Amino acid sequence: MSSGELSVGRLMATPGAGACDRGVTLRWRDGVIDALTADPRRATAGAAADLLALPALVNAHDHGRGLRQLAYGAHDQQLELWRAALYAHPPVDPYVNTAVAFARLAQSGVGTVVHVHSSIVTERLVDEAVAVARAARDVGVRLAFVVPLRDCRTLGYGDDAAMVARHPAADRDIIRERWLHPFPPPADYMALVREIARRIEGPTVTVQLGPNSPIACSDALLEATAAESADTGRRVHTHLLETRAQREWSDARHPAGLVSHLDALGLLSPRFAGAHGVWLSPEDCRLMAARGATIAVNTSSNLRLRSGIAPVADYIRAGMRFGIGVDSASFDEDDDAFKEMRVTHWLHSLTGNASPLTPALLFEAALATGFEIATGRRDYGSLTPEKPADIVVLDYGAMASDVIDGMVDETEVVLTRATRRHVRGLFVDGREVVRDGRVLGVDLDDLERDLLAQLRAAAPLMRALQPVIARSQATLRAFYETGEHLKDE
Ligand SMILES: [Zn+2]
Repeated sequence: MSSGELSVGRLMATPGAGACDRGVTLRWRDGVIDALTADPRRATAGAAADLLALPALVNAHDHGRGLRQLAYGAHDQQLELWRAALYAHPPVDPYVNTAVAFARLAQSGVGTVVHVHSSIVTERLVDEAVAVARAARDVGVRLAFVVPLRDCRTLGYGDDAAMVARHPAADRDIIRERWLHPFPPPADYMALVREIARRIEGPTVTVQLGPNSPIACSDALLEATAAESADTGRRVHTHLLETRAQREWSDARHPAGLVSHLDALGLLSPRFAGAHGVWLSPEDCRLMAARGATIAVNTSSNLRLRSGIAPVADYIRAGMRFGIGVDSASFDEDDDAFKEMRVTHWLHSLTGNASPLTPALLFEAALATGFEIATGRRDYGSLTPEKPADIVVLDYGAMASDVIDGMVDETEVVLTRATRRHVRGLFVDGREVVRDGRVLGVDLDDLERDLLAQLRAAAPLMRALQPVIARSQATLRAFYETGEHLKDE
């Protein structure tokens, strides 16, 4: 079924390591590449001559938001305030929302998505997981479904009841009703993860344990997560030290450092990935590297939510591996994974940087380490025999129309110019997912219309909530500005 072949004028078989092969036909069987043949005649004539193939990109951290957050008022600002608006998410169908997101990502050359699900209503999680997995299968991308786990500090970095009490009296009921929900004990959460895995796991779908962040979880829940991961081999994915306020909160409670606290709880292992890691210290990086743990870097999101620039040079120096995520917050709100690579590359390879993000390290992050964060597998990163047939096909002719042939390496063209506009094709596990820039498995235009209609229907509700959100953001701003998050709860 998932057998096929593809002829291209240029093949970046191992991106970041050397020049392109010219005129190649790739063949695969059961989703695995079995032969590469030099085929100058077929691959350098006709339309195939203008095509360039490389391994499909991996989005190592995302939230599957087809509905862009600006649409319902969650504009870019400090994460702690932005989140109050984000959590007021309009009621939309989880299948449609994630199918739109996955389809846009596929069009941008992403073959694998780590989807951190956002919901606090645990009763609905199994149904939502089934819907999200169906969306991924319909679109054709590989999915890591990260089950959200949390049992405290939902509104901010303080006790929820005390946080509610800080809000105007007239808003408290609505805040309790919309933003808070009773949390199950750790054992029930673990059973829920197993049930979701039983329902949706398969050859292209895995399920991960997803403490929302160490701040939003009790030590009991984090310990249960570590034990479950050790017992079952299931991966753990959590937001980690994303913002200055999170670092401050953590330092106030864990003088030896949050990362070493997580290590003491048994969480750090090769199965552990933290998202963001903007505020990791060099010491944190060394400890994580020693445990084989990884980070998903989300550059655009870190800029948009005013979080900062991740210390990627420290990651590299420590030998800590990292992937690249779009975090549903791409540079131009266009889910462009190539642009996300570009801004990450530029920001971390400035002149004078003693440990720059070289093209080889950049592609290792975007491909091999991202794939490991998503699937736990270490067999990704090149288009060579026995590797997964996950392939993105770019219109090299359009990218390089003015470039004198032979003057620059194709890698430079891809790093400088590739965007989602150049993605002509995508194959995942050998299945053709995108052809001529269009997703084959779903009707994206139809889904986008459906999603927009659902958003419009929720507009009166959202407008009614808007003043409550604004007052809540003012309350939160005062809370953080006066350092209340540093005091004992
Ligand atoms: Zn995130």
